[in-house]
Amino acid sequence: MTDLPVRIRPEIAALPAYRQGRQASADAFKLSSNENPFDPLPGVVEAVRAATTFNRYPDASAARLRARLADRYAVAPDGVHVAAGSVSILYQLASATSGPGDEIMFAWRSFEAYPGLAAVAGATAVPVPLTADAGHDLDAMADAVTDRTRMIIVCSPNNPTGPVVSQAAFDAFVARVPGDVLIVLDEAYAEFVTDPDAVTGAAVLGAGHANVVVLRTFSKAYGLAGLRVGYAIGDHRILDAARSTGIPLSVTAQAEEAALASLDAEDELLERVRHIAKRRDALAEALRTAGWDVPVAQGNFVWLPVGERALEVAEAFDAAGLIVRAFAGDGVRISIGEEESTAGILAAAASVVR
Ligand SMILES: *Cc1c(COP(=O)(O)O)cnc(C)c1O
Repeated sequence: MTDLPVRIRPEIAALPAYRQGRQASADAFKLSSNENPFDPLPGVVEAVRAATTFNRYPDASAARLRARLADRYAVAPDGVHVAAGSVSILYQLASATSGPGDEIMFAWRSFEAYPGLAAVAGATAVPVPLTADAGHDLDAMADAVTDRTRMIIVCSPNNPTGPVVSQAAFDAFVARVPGDVLIVLDEAYAEFVTDPDAVTGAAVLGAGHANVVVLRTFSKAYGLAGLRVGYAIGDHRILDAARSTGIPLSVTAQAEEAALASLDAEDELLERVRHIAKRRDALAEALRTAGWDVPVAQGNFVWLPVGERALEVAEAFDAAGLIVRAFAGDGVRISIGEEESTAGILAAAASVVR
């Protein structure tokens, strides 16, 4: 690393620079970041517009939103932690639990942020390969626990492949992991799940495992990706540690107001989520009928496991005005977007098979 102007930690210099899903041109569909295709609801926009005292710092603990969420999950307000996106909380928990020599485990392929947060904490990433049907191999993960394991992330539904972890499998996993190892259940796509056997944060919290923290976000189902607000529910002593490692005052008043207004408008928002889930099921089924090996899709995206052809396949979609996300060597993830994008996806997919 001789081309760096200052001394950078080698493991940080080695990280790939963050590349966002490409911004779509006006006539293309942006299906690369699992965003909500619906415009924000008028009531939510109004709430953000009304939050004009931004010459003042926001409420550091987002107390109103925490109280609201605490009610919903029947926990004390200290058992809720709000941050600027649930990715922030992942970083906070990583630095709170793990340092050099410690291990942070996750399934792979999974969410792109996971390897980086281990590196930033100075810890060692332990990726455990997915099963053949693109789900978590929780037995292999439990087998991979060592006395240096500090944090294990379980992503259900798994981004980018789609399958959920079942409640039974999750419970069996928790029983096998030592009680002093943090297990994070990343439920970024929980609202899109239609499988009744899927693990739910609510059931996990109800079981009272002190070492499990549940992460949720307003970015996906609630359509607030641009405002940055997510939360964790769990033991207040773990969340206190996360609060200690977080950058203070990161959640803006606008984000907090938007989240509160979204909870007020939840019925309407969840109706949209049901549309997206139906659109997802129809698309996955049509792709399977066309011969694609699409795994179970329970998020707001479908996965094409095309392996080495990922970049080539993504380019074919690109050329058809569909911006999708390629994961080199593994596959292509297509977010469920506007209804009108479906026909184009099927046409582009058909052109690839040829
Ligand atoms: C999108 C996503 C998140 C949440 O992102 P934020 O916008 O930071 O709340 C967390 N985990 C996974 C797996 C995601 O895909």
